[in-house]
Amino acid sequence: MPSNLFDIGANLTHESFNKDLNNVIEKSLTNGIKNICVTGCDLEDSRKAIEIAKLFPKNLITTCGIHPHYADSFDENSSSEIISICKNSLVKAIGETGLDFNRNFSKKGKQIQSFLNHIEIANSLNLPMFLHQRDAHESFMSCLEKVNPLTQCVVHCFTGKEEELKDYLKKGFFIGLTGWICDPKRGAHLEKLISLIPLNKLLIETDSPYLLPKNLEVKGRRNEPIYLREVLKKIIKHRNEKEEEIIETLYENSLSFFNLQK
Ligand SMILES: [Zn+2]
Repeated sequence: MPSNLFDIGANLTHESFNKDLNNVIEKSLTNGIKNICVTGCDLEDSRKAIEIAKLFPKNLITTCGIHPHYADSFDENSSSEIISICKNSLVKAIGETGLDFNRNFSKKGKQIQSFLNHIEIANSLNLPMFLHQRDAHESFMSCLEKVNPLTQCVVHCFTGKEEELKDYLKKGFFIGLTGWICDPKRGAHLEKLISLIPLNKLLIETDSPYLLPKNLEVKGRRNEPIYLREVLKKIIKHRNEKEEEIIETLYENSLSFFNLQK
């Protein structure tokens, strides 16, 4: 399979990578995963993501933000801290932000407040947004009405319903697909949605170390950017375009989403 894949979301700051991070990244890069965006999940994590990206500045970029799970930590200093972290040129998106009412690790009100602030920051810095939504579609959409994002957005790890997908596409958002689509049980409903996403709005990601594609037998069950290929294979299987066109367009989409040059 020809290459140049872009993993738009990998949590390489996760402790499961502490021992062999360089190895994981090098192995991915030499196997066609040309670029990886390292997700930042809170302020400290966003700083750590930058340190990781600095090791491979030609191939790695980061997001900066506070994940809805940690929204309780969003306080009056958070916005200015995010803005200051974003001064590093390796930060190419705001996030991960959004709403997660599935697990409610942070209070709903705090999640909404944090999300609205992230949209404002993205607008003021002219950075795209890396968005997370789980079991919170209505509130998510009303936040996006309240503060209209002026930059490109991706709803990462899309696992929702067709109506939700349509709402996002109406807004012009990109849709990020993970190994969730490779899960014969949890991902079954997504199979018919894969072809409904315009190819120029599609992005792929591993969400490593989470969401190892179910079809893979991997010791330890840790997902890595190198397994992005499984997500790609599944997409190729459920779309009509030629394989090369899909691969090329996905890569172009990633560059365009993060405002990167070739
Ligand atoms: Zn997420």
